[in-house]
Amino acid sequence: MIINIHPDTSQETLSRIVAILGQAMVRYRFTQFGGQPVFITDNALDKPLCKSLSKVPEVESIEDVPDPYPLCSIQIRPDRTTIRIRSFAVGPGRFAFIAGPCTVETEKQMLTTAQQVKAAGATALRGGAFKPRTSPYAFQGLKLDGLKILQKVRKETGLITVTEAMSPEEVAMIAEYADVVQIGTRNAQNYRLLEACGEARVPILLKRGFSNTLEEFLMSAEYILAGGNEQVILCERGIRTFETHVRYTLPIGAVPALKLASHLPVIVDPSHAAGCARLVPSLSFASVAAGADGLLVEVHPDPKQAVCDGRQSLTPDEFVKMVQTCKKIRRAVA
Ligand code: PEP
Ligand code: MN
Repeated sequence: MIINIHPDTSQETLSRIVAILGQAMVRYRFTQFGGQPVFITDNALDKPLCKSLSKVPEVESIEDVPDPYPLCSIQIRPDRTTIRIRSFAVGPGRFAFIAGPCTVETEKQMLTTAQQVKAAGATALRGGAFKPRTSPYAFQGLKLDGLKILQKVRKETGLITVTEAMSPEEVAMIAEYADVVQIGTRNAQNYRLLEACGEARVPILLKRGFSNTLEEFLMSAEYILAGGNEQVILCERGIRTFETHVRYTLPIGAVPALKLASHLPVIVDPSHAAGCARLVPSLSFASVAAGADGLLVEVHPDPKQAVCDGRQSLTPDEFVKMVQTCKKIRRAVA
């Protein structure tokens, strides 16, 4: 249950509510949501308890949200969340094309890519500086040097930047140099990392764990919202199945299902699902048709020379064509 408190409530009144909940042995979490203090209890409250809480004038409402992810639930915000950063926005009526290479390689590579994807209609630039690689011998990213390149390219192009954090320290560091912190599939249930995202005051692009159910995915997002950061973009990027023809299986049904369950924007990463550039446009088209609020696509000026994930990276020309068709599909399904 969610107990909504008036924004100007005194510490004394909050302590009074804490005492009422404590006496009833109710476990709760106190946080901020929608600009006001809220108590979220882990179980439904009985009628007498609701009555005594309602007697406190600063208690605005007590909502029964049965979902295990109450702050992410569509029930709490039926008009949905829009995430805005400068001219960028993702949410109802605002589609995000986030494009760029898997990893930041050089300043020239990032600047060229940024200019090309921007001209093609991208609204944000991606590029990993800290790379979660399966092999410890593979390129691990330029780290701080990569963040500095992203910062420079942001200044030159005006594009907002998205880059991945793998540890709580990296979340804080990225918040200084880039606009959106990405949490990758391998860390989707790294709860200390999600808590650090909850404390951050930058939007978080949270990828679905490749073996997580949608409920588990939303519970991961709930960690971030429970920490007081409600700027979360959900990203479906494919799950592990028996299929070997694609790198991961893209469950398109996840898009409408997530949007029915949650008010958070839902985007799709077709690149990591496909594992192969030729499949990326089709998966993107299907995602747009299914109601996605955006796409996160790997684009490299010269995919054959890419340090990482070249096989699944589109060329800028392929990206241009894809964006144009996506826009047509969007208009058709609007
Ligand atoms: C990425 O976006 O570069 C990435 C590593 O993605 P994922 O976490 O989905 O594998
Ligand atoms: Mn990649």
